[in-house]
This record gives sequence, C-alpha cells and structure tokens, in this order.
Amino acid sequence: MAKEFDVVVIGAGPGGYVAAVRAAQLGKSVACIENWKNPKGELALGGTCLNVGCIPSKALLASSEEFEKVNHHLADHGIVVEGAKIDLAKMLTRKEGIVTKMTKGIEFLFRKNKVTWLKGHGKFVSKSDAGYQIEVSGEGEAETVSARNVIIATGSKARHLPFAKVDGKLIADNEGALSFDAVPAKLAVIGAGVIGLELGSVWRRLGAEVTVLEALPEFLGTTDVGVAKEAAKLFKKQGLDIHLGVKISDVKTTDKGVSISYADKDGNEQKLDADRLIVSVGRVPNTDNLGLENIGLAADGRGFVEVDDHCRTKLPNLYAIGDVVRGPMLAHKAEDEGMMVAEQIDGQKPHIDYNCIPWVIYTSPEIAWVGKTEQQLKADGREIKAGQFPFSVNGRALGINAPEGFVKVIADAKTDEVLGVHIIGANASDLIAEAVVAMEFKAASEDIARICHPHPSLSEVVREAALAADKRAINM
Ligand code: FAD
Repeated sequence: MAKEFDVVVIGAGPGGYVAAVRAAQLGKSVACIENWKNPKGELALGGTCLNVGCIPSKALLASSEEFEKVNHHLADHGIVVEGAKIDLAKMLTRKEGIVTKMTKGIEFLFRKNKVTWLKGHGKFVSKSDAGYQIEVSGEGEAETVSARNVIIATGSKARHLPFAKVDGKLIADNEGALSFDAVPAKLAVIGAGVIGLELGSVWRRLGAEVTVLEALPEFLGTTDVGVAKEAAKLFKKQGLDIHLGVKISDVKTTDKGVSISYADKDGNEQKLDADRLIVSVGRVPNTDNLGLENIGLAADGRGFVEVDDHCRTKLPNLYAIGDVVRGPMLAHKAEDEGMMVAEQIDGQKPHIDYNCIPWVIYTSPEIAWVGKTEQQLKADGREIKAGQFPFSVNGRALGINAPEGFVKVIADAKTDEVLGVHIIGANASDLIAEAVVAMEFKAASEDIARICHPHPSLSEVVREAALAADKRAINM
C-alpha cells in the first residue's frame, strides 16, 4: 500500500518548503520530496536559493563589499588600514557555514511542523480517484506515495551554452562561480543579467578584472530606463567592463584559461582571453524526468508547467509554483505562491498581486523596483507624473558614504495612485518594502509624502521622491 498524505510537495526550495510548512500549520499531513546533494554529498533542503543562489551569493557579496570598504572607503572616514589581504578559503568557509545553518534550519522547521522529508527523486507514476501516485527513488529501495493534493515546486537550473561546456573550474555557472578556489586575474562573464552582474561584482571587488559580454543591445532592459542609465555609469566607474550587443561564436579552453571569440555590436570580430568564465544566460525550469506524461500533463515549449493566476494546473488538485512556472524567477515570489497554494488547499481564498512583487539586483549600489517602469506606462498610454530625488543630498547617505543613486516615484497623473517605485542606491532592497506596502494598499504618492519618516535615514529619500512627484520636495 502506498503511504498516503493530504499534500505532497515535490522540491524543497523556497517555494516547496514554505508550501509544506504552511500546509502542515493548517493541519494537513504533508510530505516533501527532495534530492538535492551538497558538495559534501549530503542531502540538503532549501533548493537553489539556500544552497547555490540567494544566500551564498549574498554572503560573498557582503565579504567582497567589506574588502572594497577597506581598500577604497575607510580612508574617507579617516581610518587607515594597510596590507589588507584576502583569505579566500576562509571567506568560502564562512559562506558555507551560513548555507549549512540555513538548510539545517529547514530540517528543524520540518521536524517542528511534522513535515515528512522523503529523500529522493520524485516522479509521477499514475493518477487515480484517490489522487496522484509518486515514486520516490533515493539511496534505498524506491517507494510510492499517494496524495490528493500535489504541489510541483521543482525549480530551475542554470541554462548552459552548447559551445561552452561548464566544467565548474575554468567555465562555471552560478554554482562554480560561488566557489572559485582563487581570485581570477581576468574574469569573463557571459550575460549581464542579475546573476551575471552580482557574481561579476563579487569577483571584481576581490580583485579580478571583469569583462561582461551581453547579447542584448540594451543594458538592464527590464528596469526603468533612468535607473539602467545610472547603473551603467556607476558600474563602469567601478571597473566592470560591459559590452552589449555581442554575438559569441566560440569558447575554447586553453592551458592558460578560456578564449572567447565574438562579434562586437558593430560586427567586428573580437577575442577575449580570460582565466575563468562565468556563464549566466538565464535558467530553465526543472520538468524533465518528472513523469508528467504519466498523468496526462505536458510542460510548455520552454519546459514550464502551465498554471493560472492561482497556480492551478489544468488537472484537479495539482498545483505548480516558483521557478517552474511563469513569472519572475525570484525566491520571494516562489514563497508567496507556496503560501497561497497551501491556503487554497485548506479552502481559503488567498491571492497574489503579481504587480506588487519587488525585484532586486544586489549590486553595489543595489537596484530595486516594484510596479511598472516609466517606459512601460508610457507604452500603455497612461498619463503619469514622476518625482525623483537623489541620495547625494541626504545626510544619512553622506554619513555612510553612499551618495550614489536616486529614488523615483511614478504616480497616475489624475488619481495620484502609485504605479511604480524605482530605486538605485544603498539598501534599496530594504527601502523598496515601503513602496510594496504602499502599492498593495493602492496608496497615492501623497500618502507616502504625508507619512512621517525617521531622520536621518535613507527612507527620507523615498518620501522626498513622493513629494517631488507633486513638485514640492523640500530638500532640493
Ligand atoms: P528551487 O530553489 O530551484 O528549488 C527546487 C528544488 O526542487 C531543488 O532543491 C531541487 O533539488 C528539487 N527538485 C527538482 N526536481 C525534483 C524531483 N523530481 N524530485 C525531488 N526534488 C526535485 N532570488 C531572489 O529572490 N533573490 C536573490 O537574491 C536571488 N539570488 C540568486 C542568486 C543566484 C546565483 C541564483 C542562481 C538564483 C538567485 N535567485 C534569487 C533566484 C532564486 O534562487 C529562485 O527564484 C528560487 O530558488 C526558486 O525557488 P523554487 O522553490 O521555485 O526552486
């Protein structure tokens, strides 16, 4: 007899583990199938985000920022540090320690909420009146479990290029790029998306000369055009050498490293030699070997599971969430979908406003936004007004030596409803939360402008941008 659960979740990334915990909180019997193995060969919960994504990348970003501070910023504070060196092994050990703490934390949450962790690969074998039957194959004998409700949360993996074989040493994807055993003197990055920029920034700050090759003609095409321009200016000043509109024709590994042949934006043949290469050209959903065909479901042409706004597939009681479905590949989007689906299974009526999901790029300075960009709103024919305010005249920003960037608040010209907030500057990832709350509550820019903000704080720049939308910023 197959073991039965009310809910089975396949995948324990931020989408899957949150869904499992929430369903268990609501009194369901829950199992979560996960087969991730960490570099020590141990099974680990947490998916891409905790093991090789958000958490380790931010740990390294923080370490590299500390090094940059010592080398370039502390002198401005009158603090002189000489001979600062990098102990890369220690830096990586610190990062791994954080990952272990976080992934073990999910094991604790599973035990606390009585979620059964089924260790192995999950594959649909059949569906019946009782629900779905899933085979779990791990180290021991395979077992089959059955559940009325199933949540597919299998996430995504790095997209690779056919002519650049990822070996984790000379050519790396996000996994290898978080564990280089030495700082490369010359680093090439293919892809100027979020991950390429974040990882490129880490190694640049640690001393690498970084060249980024991007196929698209525009830099950060999905961000607000003013933010993208400011980012391009600041990253160039920091030494990130970004080439747009390139067409890569060949990547060869040599005894010295990697050699990349490409045509530049004007069609001229170029060659770039580097010690290491990071390939960061997007991610593909994990739907292969999931047995979807055994239950009469097919992934779409790009490998995603098709779902509606409530993450329902076309089969009853079968849901899919996170990177494996449409929408931004972001951990907090996956988490929100996990909670929403668990609550639906419980008979509640939750929903997600996808327009209010914040985006963050953890470069320095950070970039964050919510809602629509000015160019999207103009293309939609919306009449808008915008207020922009720089960090360079904010006392706190000057105090922490972070005068770069600005906040831009875009509102409807007639109703004043906030339609988008775009930030490039220190702590943008935290500052954007205020804008998300405002937009969730359909606030007007006037509402943000009238709310008392602490002084001195970076959040005053958000308020001043809201005041500027009505042409009444005080401090400029
Ligand atoms: P995943 O986290 O990918 O988890 C899916 C899990 O399912 C995996 O553990 C996998 O082993 C398991 N699985 C797959 N198939 C099966 C199967 N058949 N049986 C059993 N288990 C299976 N997002 C942010 O919001 N902020 C960031 O700062 C950020 N930084 C990132 C940095 C990097 C370098 C990368 C690569 C990604 C980053 N992301 C970030 C994206 C974020 O990691 C993903 O959006 C998020 O992990 C998606 O969550 P998920 O639960 O859908 O899938």
